[in-house]
Amino acid sequence: MIFENIAVNEKGHLTFAGVDTVALAEKYGTPLYLMDEERIRHNCKVYKSAMADAFGEGSYPSYAGKAACFKRIYEIMREEEMSVDLVSPGEIYTAFKAGYPMAKAFFHGNNKTDGDISFAMDCGVGCIVVDGFDELSAVDRIASARGICQKILLRLTPGIDPHTYEAVATGKVDSKFGVAIETGQAEAFVKAALACKNVTLLGYHCHVGSQVFDDSDSVYTDSARVMLTFARDMQEKTGYAPEIFDIGGGYGVRYVESDPYVDIPASIRRVYEHICYLANELGLPMPNVIMEPGRSIVADAGMTLYTAGTVKEITGYKNYLSVDGGMTDNPRYALYGSAYTVYLANKMTETASFTCDLVGRCCESGDVLQPGVVLPKPVRGDTVAVCTTGAYNYSMASNYNRIPRPPVVMLRGGEDYVAVKRETLDDIISNDL
Ligand SMILES: *Cc1c(COP(=O)(O)O)cnc(C)c1O
Repeated sequence: MIFENIAVNEKGHLTFAGVDTVALAEKYGTPLYLMDEERIRHNCKVYKSAMADAFGEGSYPSYAGKAACFKRIYEIMREEEMSVDLVSPGEIYTAFKAGYPMAKAFFHGNNKTDGDISFAMDCGVGCIVVDGFDELSAVDRIASARGICQKILLRLTPGIDPHTYEAVATGKVDSKFGVAIETGQAEAFVKAALACKNVTLLGYHCHVGSQVFDDSDSVYTDSARVMLTFARDMQEKTGYAPEIFDIGGGYGVRYVESDPYVDIPASIRRVYEHICYLANELGLPMPNVIMEPGRSIVADAGMTLYTAGTVKEITGYKNYLSVDGGMTDNPRYALYGSAYTVYLANKMTETASFTCDLVGRCCESGDVLQPGVVLPKPVRGDTVAVCTTGAYNYSMASNYNRIPRPPVVMLRGGEDYVAVKRETLDDIISNDL
């Protein structure tokens, strides 16, 4: 099958992480998010060992928590000894309450308020990734008021177009994120940081985009070239040599058969060789490198189950299969036109010959989970499985149409347990006065 953690059992049912998905749909109801805990741990280990093997001890991956954020994930990250990236007080609080060692956390975002910065310091976040001049002064001022010295990285914009969806490209000069190298503003940014009394500048950060495929190394090698060249210039001008280069996230994952397979350890090895070559050419010591995978840690650890509802055949036009969830639990097709692999989980051995648009229950024509899917003929009550939903699904879910969010059920060693419970109708009105 296309994904390693799916199979078909003797009943002709789809299994995920070795568990019968039809039985899970019956046990927990639908819509239902499933997460394969062992797959998450496996993906963490792949990055950790590939980075340590290539770059050595001081280099490591930091999980971008926005891809999937709930307490259990941060317990797993603590156990796997992963660093994490957090982007809001809500994400910081989730990790903190999960007992995650906050000194290993990085705080990102293009508009951190003074309140956010104070909260991060209260929770002991190790490093703040400063996104601009105003924020640099705010961090310095707040750290000074507390009598501390805050570790920071500076987010730079290398001016690279990663050839991905516009909405997930973040490294172009005109991005809302970071300070541009090309315009000379990054130079002033570094000088300003070096002049601050209550910050310790650890190095530079960039992140150019997400779900990058065309030559998957280039997302890192291109930005490494720009960043290291900038570092060399700054070293000549100020004497400052960064300890850390954080080169962001972005490896693509396979959603459908036609997506390429990225061999992450092999790519990391090539990125390492490229950075070695650059450092050597520029006369710089080999830096410690951080990568920030989000999607590639959790995407293939996730699956969403729905129950089939209305099957609508418009003679001579098209067919629709409606399910009991939709853009509220998975807005990615609506946002980015994302592709997904879809199965009829209780009819895995039947021939797929019914083409339909898989749509949700929201009052919105754009509420499409996936157009043009080919399935065995569905009937009301069948179990529909959408694969690879571990990243940017639960974390992007909403209560549009006052639809409660589904639970997250974790699978481990053939067992299942709830990590996030299903929202109730009372949860939906809980803040209404
Ligand atoms: C979103 C994000 C990531 C993770 O990107 P993926 O494509 O999920 O790997 C990493 N770093 C930063 C700064 C991000 O904003």
